[in-house]
Amino acid sequence: MSEKDCTFAKSMKNEDMMDCSRVLMAGPCSAETEEQVLSCARSLAAFGDALPANTRLLFRAGLWKPRTSPHSFEGVGEAGLAWLRKVEIETGLAAATEVATPAHLRLCLDSGLRHLWIGARTTANPIMVQQIADTLHNEYADLSGSLTLFVKNPVNPELALWIGAIERLQKAGVEHITAVHRGFSAFHTGECRNTPLWSIALELRRRMPGLPLLCDISHIAGKRALLTTIAQTALNLGFEGLMVEVHPSPAQALSDAAQQLTPDAFACLLHNLRMPAHRACPSDDRLAELRQRIDEIDDALWQLVVDRQQVSQDIGRYKQEHNLPVFQEARYRQLLDRRMAWAARNGLSEETVQRIMEALHEASIGVQLR
Ligand code: PEP
Ligand code: MN
Repeated sequence: MSEKDCTFAKSMKNEDMMDCSRVLMAGPCSAETEEQVLSCARSLAAFGDALPANTRLLFRAGLWKPRTSPHSFEGVGEAGLAWLRKVEIETGLAAATEVATPAHLRLCLDSGLRHLWIGARTTANPIMVQQIADTLHNEYADLSGSLTLFVKNPVNPELALWIGAIERLQKAGVEHITAVHRGFSAFHTGECRNTPLWSIALELRRRMPGLPLLCDISHIAGKRALLTTIAQTALNLGFEGLMVEVHPSPAQALSDAAQQLTPDAFACLLHNLRMPAHRACPSDDRLAELRQRIDEIDDALWQLVVDRQQVSQDIGRYKQEHNLPVFQEARYRQLLDRRMAWAARNGLSEETVQRIMEALHEASIGVQLR
């Protein structure tokens, strides 16, 4: 389907947003001019049928941009607050921006904005997150129920730091918090600008059940060509929504030009995505049957792990009696090499097999040391 075929239906306002289970936050990386902000917001507000069912659309635009280089465009700052409020009043879309200091927070809240995000560099800085939390608690306690904060993962892959930032804000009384996975920095990134580590996001979900989770596909991808695949992966994993950078003319964007989509291309992206229901239906017989099989396989698998550990214990005793070291590097390498060759022959991911093998070996060493 071409971009042109993805036409927008008539204007749609998001009056009835409370029932919406999916969230899309879209808009430019940076607010650049009033005209750019409003034109982008008007195009998005006119999405209508291009918006999936049960979806709440929010507008985003950064005012204070945490740029790597001081030579880059660092945002229009305070001047853009009035543009974002104009978006809210004119289009009915809630507008969100990034706050990186208590001063940003005060300016945003005093101007009437109620949707804010904490960026990846700020999440990595507990002192700054605490200052923001203290400002909320000490000066804006009356807004604790009407404010929504989006907390991006820190730039480094440390789940505890992400959870810590969320907890600081929860302790300050913020009732509505959503986590945002935007990938992690690395010296050598692969295809993506910031590597997505889905296992960290899913572990956050396990540790903080009920916390909505969005995927910032633009800052993960860094380039338009990767957006659809990343978005589909996130939705398949049960993310509640997406953050997507959308600009009226991406080629002219003052920041992140390579990853932003035109509003038309964004509509196309949405059209091409499969939107899974949030929860699998437990009364589905076929699914129940398959899950039962998984449970049976797990039972057998774990019995084998118990058997393996018992043999490891015997090996440990033998090594002790014969004064041998517990860890024998050559044997470990042999185990790994054999299993890797097996993985390749059986079409299993070598990375997965290596991780499982490492965990089994660590458990075996543990039992032998005891
Ligand atoms: C942004 O969303 O504009 C941004 C700067 O993102 P991040 O904090 O994820 O780098
Ligand atoms: Mn950006």
